[in-house]
Amino acid sequence: MVDLIWFRKDLRVEDNPALTAACSGDAPPVALFISTPDQWQEHNMSPIQVDLMERAVNSLAQQLAALGIALHHLALSRFDEIPTALSQFCQQHGISRIHAGEEPEFNENKRDREVVAAGLELKLHPGHCILPPGTVLKADGTPYRVFTPFRRAWMARLRGQNLAPGQPTTAWPALAAPAPIEFDAHKLCSAHWPVAPGEAHRRLEHFVHQRMSDYHLNRDRPDLKATSVLSPYLALGMISPTSCLHAALSHGPEALQEQPGGAFAWVSELAWRDFYRHLLIGWPRLSKGMNFNPLANKVQWEKNTAAFDTWCQGQTGFPLVDAAMRQLKQTGWMHNRLRMVTASFLTKNLLIDWRLGERWFSQHLVDGDLAANNGGWQWSASTGCDAQPYFRIFNPVSQSKKFDPDGAFIRRYLPELNDLSGKDIHLPPASVRPPGYPAPMVDLADSRRRALERFAVMKREVF
Ligand code: FAD
Repeated sequence: MVDLIWFRKDLRVEDNPALTAACSGDAPPVALFISTPDQWQEHNMSPIQVDLMERAVNSLAQQLAALGIALHHLALSRFDEIPTALSQFCQQHGISRIHAGEEPEFNENKRDREVVAAGLELKLHPGHCILPPGTVLKADGTPYRVFTPFRRAWMARLRGQNLAPGQPTTAWPALAAPAPIEFDAHKLCSAHWPVAPGEAHRRLEHFVHQRMSDYHLNRDRPDLKATSVLSPYLALGMISPTSCLHAALSHGPEALQEQPGGAFAWVSELAWRDFYRHLLIGWPRLSKGMNFNPLANKVQWEKNTAAFDTWCQGQTGFPLVDAAMRQLKQTGWMHNRLRMVTASFLTKNLLIDWRLGERWFSQHLVDGDLAANNGGWQWSASTGCDAQPYFRIFNPVSQSKKFDPDGAFIRRYLPELNDLSGKDIHLPPASVRPPGYPAPMVDLADSRRRALERFAVMKREVF
């Protein structure tokens, strides 16, 4: 009996339950990756993330070859071609059972159901979350809609658990170096993110040793290196979230104890990650671009393509927003505080539908992830589950003064403002504004008033 390990967004050897299960037989499993560029494009996957994924798959192929496992590549275009192509592949290789990591998104779920409907034996394994969806429920058996009680229950369940990352046990002779795998897709260079074996773990260790203890103090400062920047690796499953928790606990054993501090704050972010993934399973409509809160269906958004483009290109005239949007375009990554500030600006000050912002982020982020992106956008737009109340509207100028006090982050991405004083840089007065930099595109007080009027339809709480 030959087993197949079908890799999707779990591109790792360590702590991969599907791979471990596939390696439990006497013979080495066959490994497979299926590229579906048209489907990825439909899902708004960014060219930089496609590139990172290609490099991650090649790195994985090398690691698997060292373990005696050959990684094959099937080049298709869409998910609906998978059942037939996979059936043929299984026949050719004498495969009787497929192992794969579970994925929480609607289309990915449908794809897996169709594979089963085609008569293939598909065994799905947990691993994309620390605690699988369906295992952290309220006393009445329903999923949590509010984060804090979810986190308490999540932490209580994890205390005392053995979280040591699993390793597949293999004793097969190594294979020759594999031929390169290439995706026939639009790609953008992701070389800034190394994919060598052990790289994500090295970054994790560096973070928990050097930065985690001050994470709660500095995590909102985009001008400092204060967060882990592991999101691109987590989004493609190049490192498991459980490995992250395990490392956090080995350097901050109090991380699950509800004691304020760096380790607890960081592990709480891993809990947010799980929370949003559990929501995708509990409320499949989230994968289809629908508001979590039905009251938000009544919010009337502005249809203003010019204003949307101005935001996309980082030309709003609010330096923190513009620097953040240019960081996204130039690097594929954006600091969390800035994701919140730019999303609030788009959805509240410009009253533009969060779905457009969500799509733009997804098309440019190297760490694009439906659950976290949708969760973050719906939180910021006040349309989501346990979201920011609609009347809380970030002021991009005060956020700038508070979180980029000297303007160091702004200067990095808006060199045209380099010569401005620390006082002027947060909102350059017309007298010192350099010629190429735009005037503010909206009046903050007026746009805030307009947002409060529009969002007033959400006054009645639904929960
Ligand atoms: P750290 O602060 O070091 O956190 C560790 C890990 O926890 C992250 O790598 C990430 O996997 C997870 N995490 C942290 N914050 C959150 C959060 N609020 N929600 C869910 N998971 C979290 N994150 C993505 O991975 N992909 C996205 O597409 C994405 N889109 C977002 C859109 C908006 C509008 C907002 C407000 C947030 C979004 N986030 C997204 C969440 C967060 O901004 C990033 O995960 C974080 O900035 C990544 O940086 P880091 O790895 O240094 O995080």
